[in-house]
Amino acid sequence: MFVDYAVIHIKAGNGGNGAVAFHREKYVAAGGPDGGDGGRGGDIIFKVDDNLSTLADFRYRRKYAAPSGQDGQGGRRNGRKGESLVIRVPRGTIIREDESGAVMADMSEMDEFTAAKGGRGGWGNTHFATPTRQVPRFAKNGTPGEEWDIRLELKLLADVGLVGFPNVGKSTLLSVVSQAKPTVADYHFTTLSPVLGVVSIGEGTSFVMADIPGLIEGASEGVGLGHEFLRHVERCRLLVHVVDVAGSEGRDPIEDFETINKELRSFNEELASRPMIVAGNKVDLAEEEQVERFKQYVTERGYEFYPMMAAIAEGTRELINAVAARLAQLPPIRIYEQEEIPAEMLEKKSANGFTVTEHDGVYFVEAPWLVPILARADMDDYESLQYFQHVLEKSGIIDALLEHGMQEGDTVSIYDFEFEYIP
Ligand code: GDP
Ligand code: MG
Repeated sequence: MFVDYAVIHIKAGNGGNGAVAFHREKYVAAGGPDGGDGGRGGDIIFKVDDNLSTLADFRYRRKYAAPSGQDGQGGRRNGRKGESLVIRVPRGTIIREDESGAVMADMSEMDEFTAAKGGRGGWGNTHFATPTRQVPRFAKNGTPGEEWDIRLELKLLADVGLVGFPNVGKSTLLSVVSQAKPTVADYHFTTLSPVLGVVSIGEGTSFVMADIPGLIEGASEGVGLGHEFLRHVERCRLLVHVVDVAGSEGRDPIEDFETINKELRSFNEELASRPMIVAGNKVDLAEEEQVERFKQYVTERGYEFYPMMAAIAEGTRELINAVAARLAQLPPIRIYEQEEIPAEMLEKKSANGFTVTEHDGVYFVEAPWLVPILARADMDDYESLQYFQHVLEKSGIIDALLEHGMQEGDTVSIYDFEFEYIP
């Protein structure tokens, strides 16, 4: 079964907690602090696997969690780190944050992407000994691992997409111009998954052509098949619109042509402006006037037109040469740029609680939802810092700190970010 869409939940491992421990040895009266650090939590890493061609593996398994780091122990022993969890995806998969739809990565040219970072291990009390604080009775907890709802979308990496009604000869065309073996049959929807074929035109020039399953009216609204396949056309640099010019199934070729264009338009306005070449198939079944009338209709509207008999590879060479010539002038396959996850979304995740504790004049804040905000904040950047302060105020953390007795000049420690409070 062809699956090209999935929503999954990923959770990186938490960092282990630092240990509070003191050196004990016979005859040694008061040993110093020797609590070890917690281990790092495992990351969630996406990796491209070129042997995969669908997202079918994600249909049943929807939650992925990497193990946490172990807690530190006495004797300066650090906790073991959590293994990273690798999730394999087919090339061309786009990874989005589900709620905002923001693109986190396009796995087309990159082979590996860390989508959720494991939490850092907390420092053991060894780190907190100072001349004035020789017996630190606290350690830091590890930071939580990042957690996301992720949307995976497979968008094929093809230069050319074949579009058209079912049964017009798209699969036949691909099978005669490439090594691909799509099913060709005399009934609708013979192609249930997109098939890619490499079309070589000699001298090391080639392009990838995709047979997109038949579109039908209403496909963009989710009627029938085709709707879910439209997203594969989105990356194509050029569309070849195959039309049965003979109207061999009783439809009018011009109406067919307009219907499909309307479908493309209603799925995505941008698709309508994608360069398109028109291939009039089954000319063996058509009257000369029929072909002429259709040709005139499309050429008047600025399209190149190629008549053919795909079944016997007549006219297909001319079409392919025209496609190659056109591709040479077009920009490369679209790669989706990474997008910022909106700040409001990160804040919304933050509609959760926090804890404030105080040890020896240091105020510790713990709030898992702050972790991704911290990870993205650049504290040397004024605006970023302002935003962070705003979050601390709005969430009530500053008030809570003041209630705990925080005063000007006190140190506030939020995971591995520390600052001095200046009102
Ligand atoms: P698709 O649904 O668009 O992929 O169409 P297919 O490639 O499966 O073809 C549908 C039917 O049209 C098959 O029976 C083909 O053999 C037939 N066909 C393909 N090209 C031609 C052609 O040039 N002339 C005629 N008469 N039939 C063709
Ligand atoms: Mg087909």
